Amino acid sequence: MTTPGRLADRVALITGAGSGFGRASALRFAAEGASLACVDLDADAAGRVAAQITEAGGAAIALAADVSSAADAERMTADTLARFGRIDVVFANAGVSGSGDAADTTEEEWDRVIAVNLKGVWLTSRYALPHMVERGRGAVINQASVGGLIGIPGIFPYAAAKGGVVSITRQMAAAYAPDNIRVNAICPGGVYTPLVERSRRKRGLTAATVEEANAAAARNYPLGRLGTVDDIASLALFLASDEADWITGGVYTVDGGRSAVGTLPA
Ligand code: ADP
Repeated sequence: MTTPGRLADRVALITGAGSGFGRASALRFAAEGASLACVDLDADAAGRVAAQITEAGGAAIALAADVSSAADAERMTADTLARFGRIDVVFANAGVSGSGDAADTTEEEWDRVIAVNLKGVWLTSRYALPHMVERGRGAVINQASVGGLIGIPGIFPYAAAKGGVVSITRQMAAAYAPDNIRVNAICPGGVYTPLVERSRRKRGLTAATVEEANAAAARNYPLGRLGTVDDIASLALFLASDEADWITGGVYTVDGGRSAVGTLPA
Protein backbone atom coordinates (compact mmCIF):
# COMPACT_ATOMS: atom_id res chain seq x y z
CA MET A 1 0.00 0.00 0.00
CA THR A 2 1.39 3.42 -0.90
CA THR A 3 0.85 6.39 1.40
CA PRO A 4 -0.89 9.31 -0.33
CA GLY A 5 1.34 12.38 -0.68
CA ARG A 6 0.93 15.42 1.53
CA LEU A 7 -0.63 17.28 -1.42
CA ALA A 8 -2.49 14.38 -3.00
CA ASP A 9 -5.25 15.58 -5.35
CA ARG A 10 -4.28 19.22 -4.92
CA VAL A 11 -3.71 21.71 -7.72
CA ALA A 12 -0.96 24.26 -7.14
CA LEU A 13 0.02 27.29 -9.17
CA ILE A 14 3.59 28.48 -8.60
CA THR A 15 5.11 31.58 -10.18
CA GLY A 16 8.81 31.82 -10.86
CA ALA A 17 8.64 28.03 -11.15
CA GLY A 18 11.44 27.93 -13.68
CA SER A 19 14.26 28.58 -11.23
CA GLY A 20 15.38 28.78 -7.62
CA PHE A 21 12.75 28.58 -4.87
CA GLY A 22 9.91 28.19 -7.34
CA ARG A 23 11.48 25.29 -9.20
CA ALA A 24 12.41 23.48 -5.97
CA SER A 25 8.88 23.97 -4.64
CA ALA A 26 7.23 22.80 -7.87
CA LEU A 27 9.26 19.58 -7.85
CA ARG A 28 8.58 19.04 -4.16
CA PHE A 29 4.83 19.71 -4.43
CA ALA A 30 4.61 17.34 -7.41
CA ALA A 31 6.50 14.64 -5.53
CA GLU A 32 3.82 14.96 -2.82
CA GLY A 33 1.01 14.39 -5.31
CA ALA A 34 0.04 17.88 -6.46
CA SER A 35 -0.76 18.81 -10.05
CA LEU A 36 1.26 21.85 -11.01
CA ALA A 37 0.84 25.00 -13.05
CA CYS A 38 4.45 26.11 -13.50
CA VAL A 39 4.36 29.82 -14.33
CA ASP A 40 7.37 31.85 -15.37
CA LEU A 41 8.33 34.82 -17.51
CA ASP A 42 10.88 32.44 -18.98
CA ALA A 43 8.69 29.99 -20.93
CA ASP A 44 11.56 27.57 -21.62
CA ALA A 45 12.52 27.34 -17.95
CA ALA A 46 8.90 26.71 -16.93
CA GLY A 47 8.63 24.12 -19.70
CA ARG A 48 11.69 22.25 -18.47
CA VAL A 49 10.30 22.01 -14.93
CA ALA A 50 6.86 20.90 -16.14
CA ALA A 51 8.53 18.29 -18.38
CA GLN A 52 10.59 16.99 -15.45
CA ILE A 53 7.38 16.56 -13.44
CA THR A 54 5.45 14.79 -16.21
CA GLU A 55 8.43 12.54 -17.03
CA ALA A 56 8.39 11.45 -13.38
CA GLY A 57 4.70 10.51 -13.75
CA GLY A 58 3.17 13.70 -12.34
CA ALA A 59 0.79 16.24 -13.87
CA ALA A 60 2.05 19.68 -14.85
CA ILE A 61 1.58 22.47 -17.36
CA ALA A 62 3.94 25.30 -18.17
CA LEU A 63 2.53 28.80 -18.56
CA ALA A 64 4.42 31.89 -19.70
CA ALA A 65 3.26 34.98 -17.83
CA ASP A 66 4.55 38.23 -16.44
CA VAL A 67 3.13 38.51 -12.91
CA SER A 68 3.30 42.30 -13.03
CA SER A 69 0.61 42.27 -15.75
CA ALA A 70 -3.01 41.91 -14.64
CA ALA A 71 -3.95 40.48 -18.05
CA ASP A 72 -1.24 37.79 -17.75
CA ALA A 73 -2.24 36.97 -14.18
CA GLU A 74 -5.88 36.58 -15.20
CA ARG A 75 -4.91 34.38 -18.15
CA MET A 76 -2.60 32.10 -16.15
CA THR A 77 -5.38 31.58 -13.62
CA ALA A 78 -7.95 30.84 -16.33
CA ASP A 79 -5.55 28.43 -18.10
CA THR A 80 -4.90 26.56 -14.86
CA LEU A 81 -8.62 26.27 -14.13
CA ALA A 82 -9.27 25.14 -17.70
CA ARG A 83 -6.66 22.38 -17.42
CA PHE A 84 -7.18 21.17 -13.84
CA GLY A 85 -10.66 22.42 -12.88
CA ARG A 86 -9.59 24.01 -9.60
CA ILE A 87 -6.77 25.75 -7.74
CA ASP A 88 -6.05 24.74 -4.15
CA VAL A 89 -2.68 26.42 -3.62
CA VAL A 90 -1.09 29.57 -5.00
CA PHE A 91 2.57 30.23 -4.32
CA ALA A 92 3.37 33.82 -5.38
CA ASN A 93 7.08 33.34 -5.60
CA ALA A 94 8.38 35.11 -8.74
CA GLY A 95 10.76 37.91 -7.96
CA VAL A 96 13.63 40.04 -9.12
CA SER A 97 16.52 41.53 -7.16
CA GLY A 98 16.77 45.25 -6.60
CA SER A 99 19.77 47.14 -5.34
CA GLY A 100 20.62 50.63 -4.18
CA ASP A 101 19.81 52.87 -1.27
CA ALA A 102 17.26 55.66 -0.86
CA ALA A 103 19.53 58.36 -2.26
CA ASP A 104 20.63 56.53 -5.40
CA THR A 105 17.64 54.40 -6.41
CA THR A 106 16.11 55.64 -9.65
CA GLU A 107 12.39 55.95 -10.18
CA GLU A 108 12.61 53.29 -12.91
CA GLU A 109 14.35 50.82 -10.58
CA TRP A 110 11.75 51.44 -7.84
CA ASP A 111 8.88 50.91 -10.29
CA ARG A 112 10.43 47.76 -11.79
CA VAL A 113 11.03 46.04 -8.45
CA ILE A 114 7.71 47.07 -6.91
CA ALA A 115 5.87 45.95 -10.07
CA VAL A 116 7.16 42.37 -9.88
CA ASN A 117 7.84 41.81 -6.19
CA LEU A 118 4.81 43.55 -4.67
CA LYS A 119 2.14 44.16 -7.30
CA GLY A 120 3.03 40.81 -8.89
CA VAL A 121 2.50 38.99 -5.60
CA TRP A 122 -0.94 40.56 -5.26
CA LEU A 123 -1.91 39.85 -8.89
CA THR A 124 -0.77 36.22 -8.61
CA SER A 125 -3.64 35.31 -6.29
CA ARG A 126 -5.97 38.13 -7.39
CA TYR A 127 -7.89 36.02 -9.91
CA ALA A 128 -7.69 32.73 -8.00
CA LEU A 129 -9.21 34.21 -4.84
CA PRO A 130 -12.81 34.48 -6.12
CA HIS A 131 -12.58 30.80 -7.12
CA MET A 132 -11.21 29.86 -3.69
CA VAL A 133 -13.93 31.91 -1.98
CA GLU A 134 -16.55 30.06 -3.98
CA ARG A 135 -15.08 26.69 -2.96
CA GLY A 136 -14.59 27.76 0.66
CA ARG A 137 -10.98 26.69 0.82
CA GLY A 138 -7.51 27.61 -0.35
CA ALA A 139 -3.94 28.32 0.62
CA VAL A 140 -1.90 31.29 -0.57
CA ILE A 141 1.80 31.56 0.11
CA ASN A 142 3.55 34.85 -0.58
CA GLN A 143 7.28 35.04 -1.03
CA ALA A 144 8.63 37.83 1.17
CA SER A 145 12.19 38.13 2.52
CA VAL A 146 14.15 38.81 5.68
CA GLY A 147 14.94 42.03 3.79
CA GLY A 148 11.31 43.03 4.36
CA LEU A 149 11.64 42.61 8.14
CA ILE A 150 15.01 44.06 9.12
CA GLY A 151 17.20 46.84 7.74
CA ILE A 152 19.73 45.55 5.22
CA PRO A 153 21.78 48.19 3.38
CA GLY A 154 21.88 48.16 -0.41
CA ILE A 155 18.46 46.64 -1.21
CA PHE A 156 16.18 49.68 -0.89
CA PRO A 157 13.47 48.94 -3.51
CA TYR A 158 13.58 45.22 -2.71
CA ALA A 159 13.09 45.96 1.01
CA ALA A 160 10.12 48.21 0.17
CA ALA A 161 8.47 45.50 -1.91
CA LYS A 162 9.10 42.68 0.55
CA GLY A 163 7.92 44.76 3.53
CA GLY A 164 4.79 45.36 1.49
CA VAL A 165 4.40 41.61 0.91
CA VAL A 166 4.51 41.01 4.69
CA SER A 167 1.82 43.63 5.13
CA ILE A 168 -0.53 42.43 2.37
CA THR A 169 -0.14 38.86 3.64
CA ARG A 170 -1.54 39.85 7.03
CA GLN A 171 -4.29 41.94 5.42
CA MET A 172 -5.28 39.11 3.08
CA ALA A 173 -5.24 36.61 5.94
CA ALA A 174 -7.63 38.81 7.91
CA ALA A 175 -9.89 39.44 4.95
CA TYR A 176 -10.19 35.83 3.76
CA ALA A 177 -10.09 33.82 6.99
CA PRO A 178 -13.92 33.73 7.03
CA ASP A 179 -13.71 31.99 3.64
CA ASN A 180 -11.29 29.38 4.99
CA ILE A 181 -8.46 30.70 2.83
CA ARG A 182 -5.09 30.70 4.57
CA VAL A 183 -2.48 33.29 3.58
CA ASN A 184 1.09 33.08 4.87
CA ALA A 185 4.46 34.58 3.98
CA ILE A 186 7.92 33.07 3.83
CA CYS A 187 10.93 35.26 4.56
CA PRO A 188 14.10 33.61 3.27
CA GLY A 189 17.46 35.06 4.22
CA GLY A 190 20.89 33.90 3.21
CA VAL A 191 19.68 31.32 0.73
CA TYR A 192 22.00 30.76 -2.16
CA THR A 193 19.94 30.85 -5.37
CA PRO A 194 20.66 31.65 -9.02
CA LEU A 195 19.31 35.14 -8.32
CA VAL A 196 21.96 35.72 -5.64
CA GLU A 197 24.65 34.26 -7.86
CA ARG A 198 23.64 36.55 -10.74
CA SER A 199 23.77 39.64 -8.53
CA ARG A 200 27.21 38.61 -7.16
CA ARG A 201 28.52 38.06 -10.69
CA LYS A 202 27.07 41.40 -11.76
CA ARG A 203 29.27 42.94 -9.10
CA GLY A 204 32.26 41.34 -10.83
CA LEU A 205 32.82 38.34 -8.53
CA THR A 206 34.28 35.22 -10.17
CA ALA A 207 33.27 31.65 -9.30
CA ALA A 208 36.15 31.35 -6.80
CA THR A 209 35.38 34.66 -5.12
CA VAL A 210 31.67 33.82 -5.05
CA GLU A 211 32.57 30.64 -3.16
CA GLU A 212 34.82 32.63 -0.81
CA ALA A 213 32.06 35.18 -0.28
CA ASN A 214 29.61 32.35 0.50
CA ALA A 215 31.99 30.73 3.02
CA ALA A 216 32.47 34.09 4.74
CA ALA A 217 28.71 34.71 4.71
CA ALA A 218 27.99 31.26 6.21
CA ARG A 219 29.94 32.26 9.32
CA ASN A 220 27.29 34.93 10.02
CA TYR A 221 24.55 32.33 10.31
CA PRO A 222 24.00 30.76 13.75
CA LEU A 223 23.34 27.38 12.14
CA GLY A 224 26.68 27.64 10.32
CA ARG A 225 25.60 27.37 6.71
CA LEU A 226 23.72 29.23 4.01
CA GLY A 227 20.27 28.00 3.16
CA THR A 228 19.26 25.97 0.14
CA VAL A 229 16.19 26.28 -2.05
CA ASP A 230 14.93 23.06 -0.47
CA ASP A 231 14.93 24.70 2.97
CA ILE A 232 12.33 27.09 1.54
CA ALA A 233 10.43 24.42 -0.39
CA SER A 234 10.01 22.45 2.86
CA LEU A 235 8.21 25.35 4.53
CA ALA A 236 6.16 26.10 1.40
CA LEU A 237 5.06 22.46 1.31
CA PHE A 238 4.05 22.54 4.97
CA LEU A 239 2.09 25.80 4.56
CA ALA A 240 0.37 24.41 1.46
CA SER A 241 -0.66 21.19 3.19
CA ASP A 242 -3.48 20.38 5.62
CA GLU A 243 -0.85 20.14 8.37
CA ALA A 244 -0.99 23.95 8.42
CA ASP A 245 -4.78 23.96 8.69
CA TRP A 246 -4.86 26.41 11.62
CA ILE A 247 -2.11 28.70 10.36
CA THR A 248 -2.87 31.97 8.62
CA GLY A 249 -1.33 35.44 8.65
CA GLY A 250 1.99 33.89 9.61
CA VAL A 251 5.28 35.43 8.56
CA TYR A 252 8.04 32.85 8.77
CA THR A 253 11.76 33.49 8.63
CA VAL A 254 13.91 30.75 7.13
CA ASP A 255 17.39 32.10 7.65
CA GLY A 256 19.47 29.78 9.83
CA GLY A 257 18.73 32.02 12.82
CA ARG A 258 20.46 35.07 11.33
CA SER A 259 17.75 37.67 11.93
CA ALA A 260 17.09 36.44 15.47
CA VAL A 261 20.51 37.39 16.79
CA GLY A 262 21.73 40.95 17.13
CA THR A 263 25.38 41.95 17.19
CA LEU A 264 26.40 45.15 18.94
CA PRO A 265 29.79 46.76 18.38
CA ALA A 266 32.26 45.51 21.07
P1 ADP B 1 14.85 33.20 -6.48
O1 ADP B 1 16.03 33.47 -5.64
O2 ADP B 1 13.69 34.13 -6.16
O3 ADP B 1 14.44 31.78 -6.57
P2 ADP B 1 15.50 33.06 -9.37
O4 ADP B 1 16.00 34.14 -10.27
O5 ADP B 1 16.26 31.78 -9.29
O6 ADP B 1 15.31 33.73 -7.95
O7 ADP B 1 14.01 32.70 -9.76
C1 ADP B 1 13.07 33.70 -9.98
C2 ADP B 1 12.17 33.25 -11.12
O8 ADP B 1 11.15 34.24 -11.27
C3 ADP B 1 12.91 33.16 -12.46
O9 ADP B 1 12.64 31.93 -13.08
C4 ADP B 1 12.35 34.32 -13.26
O10 ADP B 1 12.26 34.07 -14.66
C5 ADP B 1 10.97 34.49 -12.65
N1 ADP B 1 10.44 35.83 -12.83
C6 ADP B 1 11.10 37.00 -12.69
N2 ADP B 1 10.29 38.01 -12.99
C7 ADP B 1 9.09 37.48 -13.32
C8 ADP B 1 7.84 38.02 -13.73
N3 ADP B 1 7.67 39.35 -13.86
N4 ADP B 1 6.81 37.17 -14.00
C9 ADP B 1 6.99 35.84 -13.87
N5 ADP B 1 8.13 35.27 -13.50
C10 ADP B 1 9.18 36.07 -13.23
